[in-house]
Amino acid sequence: MRTHPKYIFLVSIFLIISACSPSQPTNIPTVTEPVFLTLPITDTPALSTETPSPTNTPLPALERAQYILNTTIDYDAKTVTVDQTIRYSNLTGNQLNTLVLAITPNLWDGSFALNSLAIDGQPVTTYTLDGQRLDISLASLLPAGGVTEIQIGFTLTLPFAEQEDPSVSRPRIYGYTSRQINLVNWYPFVVPHINGEWILHDPWFYGEHLVYDTADYEVNLKFTEPAAAPGATMPIVAASGVPEAQPDGSTRYTITAARTFALSASRDFQTSSTQLGDISLTSYYFAFNERGGQAALQTSAQALQVFSTKYGAYPHKSLAIVMGDFNDGMEYSAFYYLSKDFYNLYDGTPANYLTFVAAHETAHQWWFDQVASDQAIQPWLDESLATYSERIFYENTYPDILSWWWSYRIDFYKPEGFVDIPIYEGQGFRPYTNATYFQGAHFLEKVRERMGDEAFFAFIQDYYNQGRGKIVTANDFFRILRTHTSADLSDLINQYFRNVYQ
Ligand SMILES: [Zn+2]
Repeated sequence: MRTHPKYIFLVSIFLIISACSPSQPTNIPTVTEPVFLTLPITDTPALSTETPSPTNTPLPALERAQYILNTTIDYDAKTVTVDQTIRYSNLTGNQLNTLVLAITPNLWDGSFALNSLAIDGQPVTTYTLDGQRLDISLASLLPAGGVTEIQIGFTLTLPFAEQEDPSVSRPRIYGYTSRQINLVNWYPFVVPHINGEWILHDPWFYGEHLVYDTADYEVNLKFTEPAAAPGATMPIVAASGVPEAQPDGSTRYTITAARTFALSASRDFQTSSTQLGDISLTSYYFAFNERGGQAALQTSAQALQVFSTKYGAYPHKSLAIVMGDFNDGMEYSAFYYLSKDFYNLYDGTPANYLTFVAAHETAHQWWFDQVASDQAIQPWLDESLATYSERIFYENTYPDILSWWWSYRIDFYKPEGFVDIPIYEGQGFRPYTNATYFQGAHFLEKVRERMGDEAFFAFIQDYYNQGRGKIVTANDFFRILRTHTSADLSDLINQYFRNVYQ
């Protein structure tokens, strides 16, 4: 191959991107035995149509949990004080005598301090907090359809998160850098209860390990006066949900039927916004990256239009596109991060990481936020669809560089491996993404070729409609796929999957 400057530039990008994530993790944490979620989708409560059972509790029935987080951030001290109320609705179909909450800040020494814990107004004394897991024994059984109110007071001392050394700490976004604080998975939440089990997996060096039910969020946010930095301005906040200024100077953010609430704050953020119907998109970026910030905004707006047409309506009223002061892109509800590296390498064309990762993270609003799955055990369900969504973005927006995307984004890495591996069996970041993301994209391409476009997109829309608000499994994916094609897919499934799906 003739080597020209563009090629050298592209290779240098690969090397930088490849270096972003650990490939040879040490200090491997213990892995719990993976549990496949074989529950047919129809066995998962249909939240929108759930008819709550009669209950003795005075709290009204809820179709999903409510989280209220009264939050005070001391930006200069890097501390966050929260009075949290969770109204948890027991949609498991069975009575419960325990609750399990994930508290991932407690994975970092000294980051999480529990100030108070009460259920239905009564202080809780019978609980265990071990790492990220809080087990609460309920004083009285919570019946199916019943609602209980959990009150938690806690203080976060944010860890410094700018350096990532996998030999001494796990990769993280949660914490602060010299110019940003990032609150992700920062509050206790009740983990899903499926097939009689609380679903809370161990963290890993790459991939995501948490699984979320949907919930409604109200975050009431205020900052302490910036006393430690005289003359300093209040930080600019990017968050899941729509902000509404309150008379007391605080801001209330609300979002409904979301998986998780993320928040980033920085005194250095610059912003740019656009409107698509009733959806507000805002890009948050640091100085000297305005061109990349604008491109991320434009790409997200284009992708949101493409995916709304091809998959189904975007569910929220806002989308925050946030430049991350770390080497990660990451999705949350109505919010995603793009690594600073993508902005720094942005070349003004749509043929680059900033563009396709922006499309990828936007697609996670469909394949993560709305249609959720077990990110630790079946990560391909959202990652292969988010990666293939990059292809759908390019074919509809920049079709002349579609072949470039296949070669640069996917086939450069010569992907191999089974698509349906848990994060714990990825054998490193690159083999894991090769299998789960890139082989997954190839599988979807071949399925589409065999089914034809019309049936393929009818399947995708049906999968979206049936999966919204739920936690789907690979069995759900193939069951719905089967209703849209009679084509023989067995050779493709044998080639790409290690498990057998009909
Ligand atoms: Zn992804």
